[in-house]
Amino acid sequence: MKKILVTGGAGFIGSHLVERLLNEGNEVIALDNYFTGQKSNIVHLLNHPYLEVVRHDVTTPFYVEVDEIYNLACPASPVHYQYNPIKTIKTSVMGAINMLGLAKRINAKILQASTSEIYGDPKIHPQVESYWGNVNPIGIRSCYDEGKRCAETLFMDYHRQNNVRTKIVRIFNTYGPRMFMNDGRVVSNFIVQALKGENITIYGDGRQTRSFQYVDDLVEGIIRAMATTDDFIGPVNLGNPNEFTINELAEKVIAMTGTSSKIVYRPLPSDDPAQRKPDITLASSKLDWTPVVQLEEGLEKTIAYFRSIV
Ligand code: NAD
Ligand code: UDP
Repeated sequence: MKKILVTGGAGFIGSHLVERLLNEGNEVIALDNYFTGQKSNIVHLLNHPYLEVVRHDVTTPFYVEVDEIYNLACPASPVHYQYNPIKTIKTSVMGAINMLGLAKRINAKILQASTSEIYGDPKIHPQVESYWGNVNPIGIRSCYDEGKRCAETLFMDYHRQNNVRTKIVRIFNTYGPRMFMNDGRVVSNFIVQALKGENITIYGDGRQTRSFQYVDDLVEGIIRAMATTDDFIGPVNLGNPNEFTINELAEKVIAMTGTSSKIVYRPLPSDDPAQRKPDITLASSKLDWTPVVQLEEGLEKTIAYFRSIV
């Protein structure tokens, strides 16, 4: 039995990861400040004898003895990370420093939930880990993008300077049950709008692309990345390489929900990446990992979840 700390453990991805780690027989500490996470995500686990839930903010130090740390704490939806951009960058940078300091002190393995956003509006397609990205340092997405880039730098430097056993995964757009209803990201927005019979809001002309990964595939990839030998740090992309335009996603959601909602077009937010698709050659060779849930199957499960709460 391992003792594992998951920061952001009450969030969308964090709650799935916590559940999986408990199911595998580990002892888990789920840390969260509940900014975008919610107790309801983990309420079904609260009686588990090996789960401890802690309200804490990663921008201040935290001391505990664990074998592994998964550092997921950070709002991920543009709407939420832009709500308080200074706090967002503090969470990424100070959170990384605090968690890396803890890992160094207790000799724990530590994994960073990085993001495809570190590629910015990419000029290379699909995105491979060796690509350095095309990121605006002063735009409205920069608090998230640059915070996550700085966190990657810190993970590499704590490894080189202090031999901390670090891992970096770059997560591409992930969706599934337990996303917040008002999360603001495209999959949850479209499904909730469709189920409520409201207009489906496409930003821009809808020709921008994303590659959508179901949360169970991601959790499998994250756990495999943590389990690699100490010489493998990454960064490694985790995403589903099947690419869709936002128009295609809207059409799929409309067809699958049978809604009478109409599509409306709204202005494209600034710095919104035009295309995004992971190259997962590294993940398949180093982690023997490839996503297995394709968009329709994942949407079905996600629509069923939102039907139960809308
Ligand atoms: P989420 O917003 O549901 O989860 C983030 C969690 O972190 C929430 O529970 C929130 O309350 C908590 N948190 C935020 N700031 C905190 C702080 N200062 N101290 C303690 N807890 C804090 O988002 P998610 O989709 O589950 O994302 C989890 C991680 O994965 C994030 O680091 C995100 O950047 C990364 N990621 C997610 C995606 C995606 O598509 N979902 C893509 C790339 C990267
Ligand atoms: N988007 C949209 N309508 C919405 C929410 C998002 O058209 O109601 C678009 C958004 O402009 C972006 C894409 O969908 O081009 C994915 O947005 P999301 O916020 O989910 O993730 P990210 O931009 O971080 O990839």
